[in-house]
Amino acid sequence: KITVVGSMSTDFVVTTKVKPNQGETVFGEKFSTAFGGKGANQAVAASRLGVDVAMVGAVGKDDFGTEIVANLVKNGVDVTCVERVTHTESGSAHIVLYENDNSIIVIPGANNEVKPAAMTKFQSQLLASDLVILQNEIPQETNEAIIDFCWQNGIKTLLNPAPARSIAKEYIEKLTYLTPNEHESAIIFPDQSRSEVLAQYPNKLIITLGAMGAIYHDGTKEEIIPAFEVQPVDTTGAGDTFNAAMATALLQGLKMSEALRFANLAAAISVQGFGAQGGMPTLEKMKEQKQY
Ligand code: ADP
Repeated sequence: KITVVGSMSTDFVVTTKVKPNQGETVFGEKFSTAFGGKGANQAVAASRLGVDVAMVGAVGKDDFGTEIVANLVKNGVDVTCVERVTHTESGSAHIVLYENDNSIIVIPGANNEVKPAAMTKFQSQLLASDLVILQNEIPQETNEAIIDFCWQNGIKTLLNPAPARSIAKEYIEKLTYLTPNEHESAIIFPDQSRSEVLAQYPNKLIITLGAMGAIYHDGTKEEIIPAFEVQPVDTTGAGDTFNAAMATALLQGLKMSEALRFANLAAAISVQGFGAQGGMPTLEKMKEQKQY
């Protein structure tokens, strides 16, 4: 069983050909909403791949929160440990897509209310997990408390450190897996070369390389697991699908190299669909691929 402790949000996306100047109002072309938040995305991706997944986190008592929870339920995610907080709104991201450019404002809202003090309420959920997955969209001190707790209790942990935020070495040591992309890796390890850090954390540190795939050190040598060649339509959520698929495969006993190949395949399918969750494959869809 996987437990994801992390963010849930709604993306509000508008497209416009004209960028408004300060104080100006313009007409844009399109508006849409999508479910997001790295935590929720990873929970949905893992559930579609057939594992038991529980989500831990918080949404507001607003309609957006109701919709977010309903979407998780629809995707088979256990929401028993999703709290509805009264004093703040559900997390949201406000995305403006210009012709060759975009801008995003994130309002963490309830995601910032996932505090270490709340942990007593979901400790039994953590204890019942084979793997706990974390990202960087809830407060750092909560991630640290969970990493400590899981380490003390022999529960495996995976931190997908997105968006980039530095993390003390003590916590890297306690993690089972750390999965930055190249940019996040450079922020976490500013003074070391990529090869140095990979060798320092064999089979723990997996760096994703976008269309190049992923790289890790197997204890003897560095190994790149190449991505699948596809025509991407929307790479939002590629990393989320990758992390969930890697976790699923490792729990099923696959070797790291095999798990990363599985993760590359799931992510390659996901980038061919729109929205973070739109393209996320089910296990059936994975099995239809000739590369499976
Ligand atoms: P993030 O989305 O977190 O920035 P990456 O860009 O490294 O992370 O992508 C994560 C994974 O998604 C890659 O390791 C790869 O498996 C897959 N992926 C991303 N972009 C592509 C692409 N253009 N073609 C095929 N696979 C891709």
